[in-house]
Amino acid sequence: MTDSLKGKSVIVTGASKGIGKGIARVFAQAGGAKVLAVSRNLKEAEAAAREFGNGASGFAADVTKPEDMAAMAKAANDRYGGIDVLCANAGQFPQVKIEEMTAQQWDETMAINLKGTFLSVQACLPYLKKSKQGRVVITSSITGPVTGFPGWSHYGATKAGQLGFMRTACIELAKYGITVNAVLPGNIVTEGLNDLGEDYKNSMAASVPLKRLGEVEDIGHAALFFASKEAAYITGQTIIVDGGQILPESLDALAQA
Ligand code: NAP
Repeated sequence: MTDSLKGKSVIVTGASKGIGKGIARVFAQAGGAKVLAVSRNLKEAEAAAREFGNGASGFAADVTKPEDMAAMAKAANDRYGGIDVLCANAGQFPQVKIEEMTAQQWDETMAINLKGTFLSVQACLPYLKKSKQGRVVITSSITGPVTGFPGWSHYGATKAGQLGFMRTACIELAKYGITVNAVLPGNIVTEGLNDLGEDYKNSMAASVPLKRLGEVEDIGHAALFFASKEAAYITGQTIIVDGGQILPESLDALAQA
């Protein structure tokens, strides 16, 4: 698609598993970028980085901690000579209905998904400002910005919140030539999604016009586009990557197709 990411320094949070691992693999292998793969578990981050190759390396950091985010940004700068792209992807989606949810459960999902997005962007900013191709790509979701699902009121709030954050961030950072965009995945096969069980996955696949769940690389390629030189004039925008899942007005719409 593009060779404008070749040799660029890219941080992907939540890169030890799932969508983050797919994004990191696409940046390293299709994009030729140097990738810092970040998760709380160093061994898993390093194992993922070895799979990506092309100089990728692992780093342990918790996106909820400002000091960890500062150390992560410094590590990317020390190892790869700067930061060109931040993929703010780390997140969790534990299911709990409003009637049972504790304030602590609400706060924990807010801290990882929403505060973690802000903290990772803030920590990378001094370095992104120096890049000639500064990019932030946020992993949001269809859940929250577009759809709802029982048990995910807190999760949906974080994913919609990321877009609120993005729409001001892209204005504040435009003067540095930094773009901020978001990918909204549908149901993508990941370790996190597998935890929801086969029944969930089968019913979701049945509601997708393309009749399959997404692959992590489907999200990686959308993120790669937003990070590319060719996308330099696109900021504050979203792309839904869901196999058409949000389109049918009813189950009958799929049955009649
Ligand atoms: P996953 O398979 O559970 O992977 C989550 C990744 O994030 C892991 O690498 C995990 O590693 C890391 N992580 C979690 N908390 C972290 C923290 N506090 N600090 C640093 N890293 C942390 O999840 P996924 O399905 O790939 O989801 C990734 C992103 O995609 C999330 O933002 C999610 O909302 C979004 N998304 C997923 C789907 C889907 O269908 N899977 C759909 C829409 C949106 P450690 O636990 O070792 O830290």
